[in-house]
Amino acid sequence: MLKEILYEECLGNWLEKRMLEEETPNIRGGMSGRLLPDDTPIGSSEQSCPRVALLRYHGVSKKPSLTSFMTWEIGFGWENLFEKIKTSPRISNLEKDKKVEGKYGFRGSIDIFANLDGEPTVFELKSVSSVSSYEKVFINKNPPDSYISQCAAYMLATGAKQGFLVFGFFSYVGKEYMTAGTRAKLGEKLAPDITEFKVTIENDDILIDGQFHCPVSAIERHQEVVTNSLKTGTPYPIRSQGGMCFFCPFKKVCDSLDRGEINGDFVEQCRKALYE
Ligand code: SF4
Repeated sequence: MLKEILYEECLGNWLEKRMLEEETPNIRGGMSGRLLPDDTPIGSSEQSCPRVALLRYHGVSKKPSLTSFMTWEIGFGWENLFEKIKTSPRISNLEKDKKVEGKYGFRGSIDIFANLDGEPTVFELKSVSSVSSYEKVFINKNPPDSYISQCAAYMLATGAKQGFLVFGFFSYVGKEYMTAGTRAKLGEKLAPDITEFKVTIENDDILIDGQFHCPVSAIERHQEVVTNSLKTGTPYPIRSQGGMCFFCPFKKVCDSLDRGEINGDFVEQCRKALYE
């Protein structure tokens, strides 16, 4: 009963109000991505797909589940905890949820923007909630591509030359819940922890911890093609890569589009696909 009250009556109403208040979606920070040199979109989540941006623009997206709301709340809690760095003498001018606008109608909200040792810095805070993500991010040092694009897009919008992706892990996993193989890779137990990746822009290149990631133009060109798609109402013609399609509910419709079987009604067919 309490779950229904919380989810159906309270969270649902709150979300509906938020969506009504929201300005024209444009390109939002969380939808940042990049293009390969041949203009193929690449990212780690379907949120970075230009076709998904068009669908969201037309109000076609899955209703958030209770799980999504709970995950968001963990994210808000992580922001509140991280904001405590403002008492450090190395931090000044800290702003939380700083709204920014960039080229091509890009808009977003930076989790934390502050001067670190006098240098304007973007801090994007992410939470890790599964053992597999822990392994990818904390052990293999491989942050999701779309998060890097998002941080870089905020740096471009603000002119900051450095940013940090800061990941928090907030669970305890005892050894009894891990296989011998997992323990060999991750250690005897997992406990809450933080890890970070530094994003910098040097000579029109985006670097992660000093290693080349992509040219700045890859992020800007992504924003440009998304804007064109929203303006013209036409789905971006090149299929996304890099794992974006794995969990996307629009795969079947995209297959039809790529086979040339859809004329002009992509958005409506995707809308129907959500309810099949
Ligand atoms: S299935 Fe289509 S809409 Fe979904 S991520 Fe892939 S290309 Fe984008």
